[in-house]
Amino acid sequence: MTNARFDIDRFNMVNEYGEELDRNGYAPSILNKKADLCQVCQRRMGVLQRHEVFHGSNRKKSKRFGLWINVCHSCHYRIHNGDGKIDKYLKEDAQKAAMEHYGWNEYVWRYYFGKNYL
Ligand SMILES: [Zn+2]
Ligand SMILES: [Zn+2]
Repeated sequence: MTNARFDIDRFNMVNEYGEELDRNGYAPSILNKKADLCQVCQRRMGVLQRHEVFHGSNRKKSKRFGLWINVCHSCHYRIHNGDGKIDKYLKEDAQKAAMEHYGWNEYVWRYYFGKNYL
């Protein structure tokens, strides 16, 4: 029993690539270039927030594969409430980065995220 419990915990703590997840299910971001700056406006304005690039039903996978970025409050608001341009750009960029980072082809990408953004 103890071993089975341990395995389940272990499974929840790492992703498919052995990358450790924090207690909230986040793998280290593969997208943050300068983690202490907003990844959209490149400034540091107040406390940075985490934005999961693929939200909705793909939010969990965004966290699990490190597809999240640090953003300032005002950019975060614009991503979710703007005309969709930033959101679209971030998704394209993240798909490219993920395919390169994990060595996925488009088929594997679609298997995980359902839609091709490129
Ligand atoms: Zn910003
Ligand atoms: Zn967000």
